[in-house]
Amino acid sequence: MNSFLRRVPATFALAPLALAVLLSATPAAAQPAQPPHLAWKTGEEAQLIEQRVEELLARMTLAEKVGQLNLWGRGDEFRMEWLREGRTGAVMNFTEPAHIREVQQHAARSRLGIPPIIALDAINGFATYFPQPIGQAATFNLRLVELASYWSAREARAAGINWTFAPMIDMTRDARWGRVMEGAGEDVHLATLVAAARVAGYHRGGLATSAKHFIGYGEAEGGRDYNSVWIPVSKLWDYHMPPFQAALAAGTFTVMTSLSAMNGVASTADRGLVTEILKGRFGFRGFVVSDFESVRELMNHGTAADGPDAVRRAFMAGVDMDMMSGLFDAHLADLVRAGTVPAARLDDAVRRVLRVKMHMGLFDEAPYDPALARRDLATPQSRADSLAVARESIVLLRNEGNVLPVKPSVRSIAVIGGLATHQEDWQYSDKAGLPRVRPDRLTDELARLFAGRVRIASSRGLATHCNLAAGNTAGAVATARAADLVVVMLGEDCEQIGEGTSRAHLDLPQPQQALLDALIATGKPVVVVMHTSRPFVLTRFVGRVAAILQAFHLGTEGRTAIAEVIAGRVNPSGKLPMTFPRATGQVPIYYDRLPTGRPRVKHFRYETGYLDESMEPLFPFGFGLSYSRFTLDNLRLDAPSVPISGTIAGEVRLAHAGGPAGQEVVQFYVRQKVASRSRPLRQLRHFEKVALEPGAARSVRFALPVRSLGFHDDQGRYHVEPGEYEVYAGTDSNATLAATVTVTGEAIVTTP
Ligand code: BGC
Repeated sequence: MNSFLRRVPATFALAPLALAVLLSATPAAAQPAQPPHLAWKTGEEAQLIEQRVEELLARMTLAEKVGQLNLWGRGDEFRMEWLREGRTGAVMNFTEPAHIREVQQHAARSRLGIPPIIALDAINGFATYFPQPIGQAATFNLRLVELASYWSAREARAAGINWTFAPMIDMTRDARWGRVMEGAGEDVHLATLVAAARVAGYHRGGLATSAKHFIGYGEAEGGRDYNSVWIPVSKLWDYHMPPFQAALAAGTFTVMTSLSAMNGVASTADRGLVTEILKGRFGFRGFVVSDFESVRELMNHGTAADGPDAVRRAFMAGVDMDMMSGLFDAHLADLVRAGTVPAARLDDAVRRVLRVKMHMGLFDEAPYDPALARRDLATPQSRADSLAVARESIVLLRNEGNVLPVKPSVRSIAVIGGLATHQEDWQYSDKAGLPRVRPDRLTDELARLFAGRVRIASSRGLATHCNLAAGNTAGAVATARAADLVVVMLGEDCEQIGEGTSRAHLDLPQPQQALLDALIATGKPVVVVMHTSRPFVLTRFVGRVAAILQAFHLGTEGRTAIAEVIAGRVNPSGKLPMTFPRATGQVPIYYDRLPTGRPRVKHFRYETGYLDESMEPLFPFGFGLSYSRFTLDNLRLDAPSVPISGTIAGEVRLAHAGGPAGQEVVQFYVRQKVASRSRPLRQLRHFEKVALEPGAARSVRFALPVRSLGFHDDQGRYHVEPGEYEVYAGTDSNATLAATVTVTGEAIVTTP
């Protein structure tokens, strides 16, 4: 039981202002530096919370109830007085500790003193930045994924924030969509594990999460952000739902709807999904928040006639809190008075918000101390951990003639590109007055690591670090000519990342390609560092450069990590969480596709494929090189057949076969050869990242309950079927070691 609940009688618990006064006598130094580890309370504590919620609800006016359901953001319209008037239950986008303190003080002065939830999109950091989520997924190391979310939360919490609009766990197979960087890539197994790890990390760091966007946003047609989404029931359950189920199992306190419409129904008005499935079937007890203005956008979707209609539809669909549209504020009370919205539904929504606030401990907390922000942001530990994640997030895609790590014979390196010569400022510039760290320049980091051994010369080569306009190409070429090795950093920055950044072309923008062509023409070995927030098409240059490192915006310490990989202080171990296409026209391209009736066998016209491009990707899912050589052999199953209620288990042997100590990700894929529906050619079912010293070898085991290998039909039923299953082991999704196991017994069908 939490100490406050034990200490304070329930009636007193309903006087937070008095409590705040009492607690504000506590000296600031007595506040724990460690943030609260958030989790749903259980047993007696949970029961007491339900009682407190009911008591508080009974004291609330209609206006106060509606007030709890309004989420406003820092901006022109919002007034702090609204907190005092009980017109606002939550705020967003406040990042300055003094403002956050003000928010709390205003709320504490409201009639009931209900504490506000204070939200921010702390996606991959607050003062110390970590690799973008897609880069975190590329580590294939869940401990590091959890750590990145932990620090993002811990730092935001030190600034007074207590709720984040993360993790984004939308699945996508479309690199044209700008938000691929916020997710974990194309694979549902990896993404499901990442979703759980991210919720756990945020909770450990003291932030409540909002699993988003429920659901299907990543299927935006054509990769165009906000576009329509079409998802059959079977795919919804097999592909899009598992990360949400994992986030719920990990205890997410809130869920956010999407800006998109699936199968013609806007997510914010989808009662079947939000009320029947999320709250009903999954038993979700937290609250559902709309996405930014998505209540108002129901009118744009053509499914609400006016503001009151939009509110009715969203609210009756199960949306409990309105982010930024102001329409709950404007119309909900009237709708309740008129009986258009039942009072019981209003109470249900308010109950959910209060419940979350109580489980988060907000009623029991000492007032926020802005001094924490100075002390707890961008600490040596957060930076060391950021570096640890960045190191494992880098994916080595090509290394011809082992040009990397840089050989002792190299005496000079030309470092080219605005991204290398400029201190990145994407996401580092918006928190006035707070300690923050901007990433160093790659040039400086290389100069530091190679000091006294290698001369580092640099040239931007493009007009700005935003990389979109040609600059001094001749200068860059001259710098390259004078060096033994060229390192060029290309990709995306500035306004090219995240929401609203769909691309129709995934090739390098023309000025960057022209610069690269000119560098290649010098005949010097060229190492390309791709600094992007999504897979790019590298086909035009892949065969003409010596090495390619893929870095998904690595955060505060990213340049250090890149320099360490180039210098050989770090052995790359990242793997691609998304397939890299050969051409934009191949998108969506992904490894776990279904077989076709006309597979590519004879390579003639009437087989699946393109006239003008291969069927194959440039780099498959799960791919990534190392400076070590590894061999994988002896794939062995424990038993050639298992009952349908049993577990397919076995092992494979990984051996270090040359080079420095390193890490390899051993991946196990499964295909069910014959089933009542077509099953994917293979699906990742297990992986393990293994560290091996030179000469060492290890068995890597897997154990897969057969019941976890089933699939859904379009009525939502889950099927597990007997027959032959092929297990593949490898170090990317082209894994070739194979073994067959027979699953025996009767098929199992589970009806929802
Ligand atoms: C995004 C959300 C985000 C919200 C608040 C919206 O436009 O879709 O993911 O949490 O803005 O910043």
